[in-house]
Amino acid sequence: MTLGILKEQDGEHRVAVTPDSISALNKLGFDAITIERGVGSTAFFDDEAYTAQGAKVADKDEILKNAQVLVRIHPLDAADLAKMKAGQIIIGQFNPLSERTPVENMLKAQVTGFSLDLAPRSTRAQALDVLSSMATVGGYKAVLTAAAHLPTFFPMFMTAAGTIKPAKVLILGAGVAGLQAIATAKRLGSVVEAFDVRAAAKEEVMSLGAKFVEVEGAVDDKSAGGYAVEQSEEFKQRQAQLIHDKAVAADVIICTAQIPGRKAPILIRKETVAAMKSGAVIVDMAASSGGNCELTENGKITYPHGVTIVGDSNLAGSVPKDASVMFGKNVVNFLKLIMIKNELNLNWDDDIIAATCVAHEGKVVSERLKTAMGV
Ligand code: NAD
Repeated sequence: MTLGILKEQDGEHRVAVTPDSISALNKLGFDAITIERGVGSTAFFDDEAYTAQGAKVADKDEILKNAQVLVRIHPLDAADLAKMKAGQIIIGQFNPLSERTPVENMLKAQVTGFSLDLAPRSTRAQALDVLSSMATVGGYKAVLTAAAHLPTFFPMFMTAAGTIKPAKVLILGAGVAGLQAIATAKRLGSVVEAFDVRAAAKEEVMSLGAKFVEVEGAVDDKSAGGYAVEQSEEFKQRQAQLIHDKAVAADVIICTAQIPGRKAPILIRKETVAAMKSGAVIVDMAASSGGNCELTENGKITYPHGVTIVGDSNLAGSVPKDASVMFGKNVVNFLKLIMIKNELNLNWDDDIIAATCVAHEGKVVSERLKTAMGV
């Protein structure tokens, strides 16, 4: 059985598996591991680093045709899927709750697709949770991006030329990305406040040394599997006022608040941006799902009212080497579930295997995706 690692689309610098994961893959029982020529070049891994671990270099079409299991972060397009045979397996991060075309293409091609971003929020699934891995990288890079755009220092400086106050950082959303942003902003010496609708986030925020911005009366639905739920209109209004007040006083705002498969909540209105300090920076990691700031433009840096707004949901892609290492480890940990005694074994009673499967024999398996698609 052959495992193939495919190159990503233009503009994506990460690679799905790095050379340091090849030996772990060999141990899982694959007869051969093939990489598409130049697969890791944009993440600073050359082909020789893979071949030194026993991988072989091949052309894309050969891999599409011969590899029983294929790995790629982004989904394949219909033309590539047409070159595959029914039953081949493809593993990646396909964002199926928001992007349906790749799912439909996989169903049509009768391939089996596993999208690791659908992994359940369980302790057992943590080792393969690509969303957490990429959010960790993104939260870190969001703060560094803000620091690079900020016209002032992050830490306090006491110099012969006088004392400079530390930057005030407001983090919106304290999930994996937000917590990493808090930790990074604290390490840089800034004063950090964070806000989340989940009450459970308070303790985590405080344990990192940041202040928790609290709006009373949030719906905290523990049955939602660790995800945020929609809040009432009245709550949203009180929340908006408090965030406005905090935003106006902040030098940096990092936006990470999201609800999976839905439009991101707007937490910063254009009036708030207009009232913010000139030179303040907003890094909006929720940009691809609409952004937490009303003025965010996805994939762009804009300067309304003297505030720099960076709309970037793929900050993990700008730390391609380590982001790829983490993604690769997640892939290996998933493969450990579907490779039993050197053989492929798709055990549909395993909640992780069932939850991540977007396509199998022309049907959607993931219950969450079925609900989202109204199947
Ligand atoms: P996420 O990416 O879905 O959302 C980011 C954060 O935004 C969340 O904390 C969410 O509560 C918050 N948010 C949503 N709407 C908001 C609003 N209107 N205002 C303010 N904040 C808002 O979250 P995530 O990073 O995936 O983490 C969510 C939870 O799941 C966390 O408790 C995390 O520790 C947990 N988690 C568990 C596992 C696991 O056990 N395998 C893996 C990842 C995350």
